[in-house]
Amino acid sequence: MREAQYYNKHEDGKVECELCPRRCLIINNHLGICKVRKNIDGTLYSMNYGHISSISLDPIEKKPLNDYKKGSKVLSIGSIGCNLICEFCQNWHIARAEFHETTPKELDLTPETVVQMAIDAVNLGNIGLAYTYNEPTVWYEFVYDTARLIKEAKLDNVFVSNGYINEKPIEKLLPFIDAFNIDLKGTDNTFYNRLTKADIDPVLQTIKLIVHSDKHLELTYLVIPGKNDDAIAFRYMINWLVNNAGTDFSLHINRYFPAYRMHISATPIESLMNLAAIAREYIPKVYIGNV
Ligand code: SF4
Repeated sequence: MREAQYYNKHEDGKVECELCPRRCLIINNHLGICKVRKNIDGTLYSMNYGHISSISLDPIEKKPLNDYKKGSKVLSIGSIGCNLICEFCQNWHIARAEFHETTPKELDLTPETVVQMAIDAVNLGNIGLAYTYNEPTVWYEFVYDTARLIKEAKLDNVFVSNGYINEKPIEKLLPFIDAFNIDLKGTDNTFYNRLTKADIDPVLQTIKLIVHSDKHLELTYLVIPGKNDDAIAFRYMINWLVNNAGTDFSLHINRYFPAYRMHISATPIESLMNLAAIAREYIPKVYIGNV
């Protein structure tokens, strides 16, 4: 574990985490909502620093990034924890895990070790490191330390995220990240409030920030039948994106499958095609995924 960045100490021993918009106020010996940041005697710690739950050399298209270094591979790592609580979470077994249920000791790695693994995989087509599988925001300190070393090794960093992060931490990380995939999970705040227990606005702000940084950006939209597949609301969201983020990003319209607490049947292909047709009226690079 490591002391966290971005928090305030209160006189009564509580700490307020400033990493993501939840701004958890955490009493001594308790965790934040992400279940991996803990107040220990008035100091906030990142408990999952260096804890690896998953590691794999993946095709870049699996992140998904369809328009960044096509055909390459990227060493992909993830930990545990997440700051959203999505009813339909496709990775709930690691996203909702608490730090004490974490991986065996032999999978506690240092940034230097992970970077060396990335370098060793270059001759297999690896371009760098992707922070993915769980939400990398709640792994911030390890991601930041590792991303800096990856850039020193002249490799690429890929950040696959829900975009629910405060402005200061994402601005500090931006110079080290080459490509982002951000999940846009619904068209409006009602969807976010009900099905992710969060707000949409910070996610939209993150998207704007990345666009204005000129970093490579792709968005992923998981279509859940009856929840976020309304054509009018979807068109409204696309209009917002075009007006605020332009059209220089790729959009992945992905098929949902039942997971975690959501048991609705998988998305009909026709629904994906209808939404993709709407998006293509405005955005040139639109892909249907998970089919
Ligand atoms: S990163 Fe975790 S502890 Fe910090 S505000 Fe977000 S959910 Fe709370």
